[in-house]
Amino acid sequence: MEYVTRCPSCGREYDDPLRFRCNCGSPLDIPMQPGEFRREDLVDTASMWRYVNFFPYIEKRSIVTLGEGWTPLLRFESNVYVKMDFLNPTGSFKDRGASTIISAIRDRVTGFIAEDSSGNAGASIAAYAARARIKARIYVPASISGHKIDQIMAYGAELVRVEGSRERVSEEAMRSEQGKVYVGHAWHPIFRDGMRTLAYEIVEQLNWTPPDRIYVPVSSGTGLLGILEGLKHLGGPFPEVVACQTEVVSPLYHRFRGEPYTPPERLKTIADALIVTKPPLLDLMVEKLREMGGSVEVVGEEEIADAFHQLARRGIFVEPTSAVPLACYKKQVEMGGVDRGDRVVLLLTGSGLKTTPSIIKQLLS
Ligand SMILES: [Zn+2]
Repeated sequence: MEYVTRCPSCGREYDDPLRFRCNCGSPLDIPMQPGEFRREDLVDTASMWRYVNFFPYIEKRSIVTLGEGWTPLLRFESNVYVKMDFLNPTGSFKDRGASTIISAIRDRVTGFIAEDSSGNAGASIAAYAARARIKARIYVPASISGHKIDQIMAYGAELVRVEGSRERVSEEAMRSEQGKVYVGHAWHPIFRDGMRTLAYEIVEQLNWTPPDRIYVPVSSGTGLLGILEGLKHLGGPFPEVVACQTEVVSPLYHRFRGEPYTPPERLKTIADALIVTKPPLLDLMVEKLREMGGSVEVVGEEEIADAFHQLARRGIFVEPTSAVPLACYKKQVEMGGVDRGDRVVLLLTGSGLKTTPSIIKQLLS
């Protein structure tokens, strides 16, 4: 099947779906033809695989699915919509990427797949590996615990605890080994490519009229880059995509403004799925956000807690990380930067049931 990745730094091209990095060290990209999205090519199914024809490198018979995608887009209040992506099979939006990468490479795995994540991506990869009957090894920081770790183990994945920094965990996961296929969300272009479906769904669910703004929480950048690529593929007019970060972890916010960023010694935030301080995709995020006229916003802990409660008190229980987009939107409205009349979509990425128990206690105390 046709598959080409391109290096955004040096322009080299590759056709190997197992490759996740250019020889020059840069992440790879799967380029889409702008504006070539055709509605006639949709498949009549209530999952993200209704867009399978826009993934020419995936054979339909190879799809590994748990029914991911086609999550509800609800009106939250007046012209503010929420994309309920925490309703995916493992409780997070990462299922889109996991389903895509595992569908694409399943026939090439002779040993096991590897991912480094103590969070939603780790749980997703573990679930889809189980579904495909492939062995998975999930590399996590040594001290980590919580519902997401329990979930990874319940799916039967092997948990590899790595001492040292978060970077050490990634290095260990990527280190080449006999039989290992690295599918890590922070690097692999196919994982990220699956996130394009979010853009298609949002626009289709609004009757093919793009909103004015889409607010996306950003850590490693998979969701952000996928949405930008999907929007580009759909063609204009383009919504303004607002990348949302926290004051504690804001590498994109700083790089986008050309300011230096020094992460705090200890990361303490209730938005505990946004903790990547040195994302490999950082330069790519800046480039694509600029190209598509996007922007970046940050909020503090109190604003996130307020937004969390506001969602929960309206029946929407998400992890605090998923409250960051609402917090950013509210901040921009209050500061007068955004018109109340704008039609906006907030991406809700992870289920409240997965929240670290100590954080939930803190929020409810
Ligand atoms: Zn390169």
